[in-house]
Amino acid sequence: MSKKLDMEILASLCKRRGFIFQSSELYGGINGFWDYGPLGCELKRNIKDAWWKAVVRTREDVVGLEATIIMHPSIWKASGHADGFADPMVDCKDCRKRFRADQLCEDQGLELIKNGAAFALPEGAVCPACGSKNLTEPRSFNLMFKTFVGPVEDESNAAWLRPETAQAIFAQFNNIFATARQKIPFGVAQMGKSFRNEINPRNYTFRSREFEQMELEFFIRPDEAIELICGKVTTLADNPDLAGEPQESWGWEVWHRYWVEQRLSWYRAIGLPAGDLEQYWQVGDELAHYARACVDIEYAFPFGVQELEGIAARSDFDLTQHQKHSGKQMDVFDETLKQAAGKLDDAARGAFSQRVVADWTGRGKPEEEARAFVAKLFDGKYVPHVIEPSAGTDRLALALLCNAYDEETLTDDKGKTDMRTVMRFHPSIAPIKLGVFPLVKNKPELYAKAREIFARLQRRWNCFWDESGAIGRRYRRMDEAGTPWCATVDFQTLEDGTVTLRDRDSMQQVRLTVLELIDKLDSEIG
Ligand code: ATP
Repeated sequence: MSKKLDMEILASLCKRRGFIFQSSELYGGINGFWDYGPLGCELKRNIKDAWWKAVVRTREDVVGLEATIIMHPSIWKASGHADGFADPMVDCKDCRKRFRADQLCEDQGLELIKNGAAFALPEGAVCPACGSKNLTEPRSFNLMFKTFVGPVEDESNAAWLRPETAQAIFAQFNNIFATARQKIPFGVAQMGKSFRNEINPRNYTFRSREFEQMELEFFIRPDEAIELICGKVTTLADNPDLAGEPQESWGWEVWHRYWVEQRLSWYRAIGLPAGDLEQYWQVGDELAHYARACVDIEYAFPFGVQELEGIAARSDFDLTQHQKHSGKQMDVFDETLKQAAGKLDDAARGAFSQRVVADWTGRGKPEEEARAFVAKLFDGKYVPHVIEPSAGTDRLALALLCNAYDEETLTDDKGKTDMRTVMRFHPSIAPIKLGVFPLVKNKPELYAKAREIFARLQRRWNCFWDESGAIGRRYRRMDEAGTPWCATVDFQTLEDGTVTLRDRDSMQQVRLTVLELIDKLDSEIG
């Protein structure tokens, strides 16, 4: 389980070592905004590179997109954000502070009362700041930041900063499908900034107003199309262990579970311990009306177990919404489906239609819609369904910082004790991979050799040159930066070409040639 870490201590290290600064600190700061310093921006870059590599580069079935932050406002109408992306907010009439009603209740062990779309405060709720009971009723507050495009500030020019990166993927789906040379199932990934005017930014960077997301929309065939092609849809009951590679017969349920497993194993690979990761499967009315399943991947932060990523099976909701609002078709033509449907005789078609109509109407959908859907399927067409793994880069950076932080008491030969602060990042995400030190700086030959080795290694990884202070002090500074190894160039290097490689975690030292060092780091950084 996660060790008890005081967030103040972590924040102070992050500031002192240059991981995270308060945005605009010079002018007193601005709430909910954070800057990443020299070490923090390397950490974030490594997280994003690792995600892109795992989700896009090393797969043949995922492509990328980089869309704009400001998009046509109709996108947010279609997605539901313009009307529904809101949190309930309450004001304290005495101290004038503002809070999110659901969080206020949760923190006080109460439950916010829901009346349809409206909310009410339960008995006993008090202002978390001043203790007053004099609170307003909860009101809806839209989280999107509004701006105006062009010189005229009127409603016809209003636009929003995107509150998620995902919508652009749906809005560009037709262009991507036409150009990417992919067939369903395939995915589109995007990462970048998102903005939410959170009522109460809190828990350090956990809930910010400007943050980055890493999102994948993985498009799959509707189960009915799979049934026509494969004769049967593989469900979790058929394949509970997800054995083997993805199969054409996998239905949405298996694809959803597959992505949960993929994402969990990625979090473990970059160093989050399995014991600190949890899955929360949303139930009943926690699920959005269009979602078939949603799992939150959570991490045991020092301030509680909280969401890192949501993985939702969103059916064809998003593309269908954009089809309705844009008036453009969002369905794909699937040759394999067309051929499979072509092989059915009239009796088989009739039986299939009947079953689909019964199933859809049983789930409260209009019969005409079901019939139109079946007619399209027989023509080889459908609107793709989607599985959406949606992660937050900054939240993950915070989880990795919390997980890395460690304090260790060391005792030297004379029995003197000393405390060492060490950031135990996995080598793949550590901001600096290697510190390179000349043992002394006043021996020109040794110094030149060290510079030569540094220049050579710097071409491969982010390395840090440090020539000031005792070697022990230099090691400690690298421990706080989370640098997994330090290489010291000394007199023996001049004789046999070996350097001393010191390991951050074990503090053990070994002598290696530069080539051996490269091999070792390559295999451990991955
Ligand atoms: P929460 O319930 O914590 O507000 P959410 O369920 O609204 O999050 P999603 O809309 O599913 O979040 O966004 C996907 C991911 O984006 C989240 O899992 C999280 O990692 C990240 N994220 C969302 N809002 C924020 C925020 N305000 N600050 C930092 N990261 C965020």
